[in-house]
Amino acid sequence: MSLAEQALSYVRAISPYLPGKPITELAREMGMPVENIVKLASNENPLGMSPKARQAVEAALGGVERYPDQFDLIAKVASRCHVGQNQVVLGNGSNDALDLIARVFLAPGRSAVFAQHAFAVYPLATLSTGAELIATPAKNFGHDLDGMYAAIRPDTRIVWIANPNNPTGNFLPYPAVRAFLERVPADVVVVLDEAYNEYIPPDERVDTAAWLADFPNLVICRTFSKIYGLAGLRVGYALASAQVADLMNRVRQPFNVNNLALAGALAALDDTAFLQASYDLNRAGMAQIVSALERLKLDFIPSYGNFVTFRAGDAASVNQKLLRQGVIVRPIAGYGMPEWLRVTIGTERENARFIEALEKAL
Ligand SMILES: *Cc1c(COP(=O)(O)O)cnc(C)c1O
Repeated sequence: MSLAEQALSYVRAISPYLPGKPITELAREMGMPVENIVKLASNENPLGMSPKARQAVEAALGGVERYPDQFDLIAKVASRCHVGQNQVVLGNGSNDALDLIARVFLAPGRSAVFAQHAFAVYPLATLSTGAELIATPAKNFGHDLDGMYAAIRPDTRIVWIANPNNPTGNFLPYPAVRAFLERVPADVVVVLDEAYNEYIPPDERVDTAAWLADFPNLVICRTFSKIYGLAGLRVGYALASAQVADLMNRVRQPFNVNNLALAGALAALDDTAFLQASYDLNRAGMAQIVSALERLKLDFIPSYGNFVTFRAGDAASVNQKLLRQGVIVRPIAGYGMPEWLRVTIGTERENARFIEALEKAL
C-alpha cells in the first residue's frame, strides 16, 4: 500500500481550501506590476492596520526571543466582553479556535450540522476529525435555523452558525438565534461565528457575550482579521463557558499566538478612531458598489459584512476578465454558487476600479 493510502480516509476525502488569489501570484501570472492590482477577494481591511497596532507591533519586535505571554490580551478581551478571563481562548486566527472546538467535541461516529453556503472552514474543521458533516439547505442563501434544528441527531455535538455569514452576507436576527439556543439540547455546542460583528450597525448589534451566562453550550468566535486589519498576523478568540474554554485550552498549542500578533491585537482594541474610520469606509463603499450593481441590473444578496455577493451569470468567465484587468474578486463555485462572485468592499478608488472592470467584463 502506498504512503498516501495509509493516510486517514477522512483526511484524504477533504477538498482543499481555495484562498483568494494573492496579488503577487496574479502579478507573476500576468506580468503585471503589483501596484496595478486591486485585491478585493479576502474581506481584508482596505485601510490596512491601525497606526496604534503598527506601533505596538514594531515595539514588540524587541522581545521576539521570548515565548509569548497571552495574559494581557486575554484580560483585555475579557473585560471588553464582560466575561471571565477563564472564558477566553485565543486562536491563531479565529479559524484556529474553530478547529479547537472541533477537536474537543468531534470524532468518528459523531456529527456536526452546518448550513449550505456557510463558511468553508466548518467542513474543514469537522471532516478533519473524522466526524460526519450534515449540511442543511439554505433559505434565501442564509441559514435555515428550523432546518438546522431538525437536522440535529443524537450523535450531533456541534452546530456551526456564521452571523453574518460568509460568503453570502446574510444576517440572522438575534431573537431567532437566541430562540435557537433555547431549543438546542444542552449537550450540543452551538458555535456562533461573529467574524463580521463589528460591521453590524451599532443600533442593531446585540451583546451576544452576555448570553454565555445562560447557555454553557454557546461558543462565540471573533477575529482581528477583518475590521481590525490584522489578517496577516493571525489572531482571533473564542468566548465560552469556563468549562468549555478549559477543554479548548487543553488541545491548544501553548504558544499558538505570536508576540507580534498579541501586541497588535491589544493595541488595535483601543484604536477607536481607526475602527470608526473602517466602519464608515465600509458603509460608504457598500453603497457605492450596491448602487453600481443595481445600475447594472445584477442580483446581489444584501450583506451585513465587508463584502457583497452578486450573480455574475458565467462567473468563471467574468472572473477571468476581471483578473486580466488586474482586479481580484472571489469565485464561490466551491460554496455551491457557481454563478456568483463575492467582492470585498475596498477604498473608494478600489471600488471604482472594480466597477469599471466589471462593466467591461459583462
Ligand atoms: C474571515 C472569517 C473568519 C476569520 O478567520 P481568521 O482565522 O480569524 O482570519 C472566521 N469566520 C468567518 C465566517 C470568516 O469569514
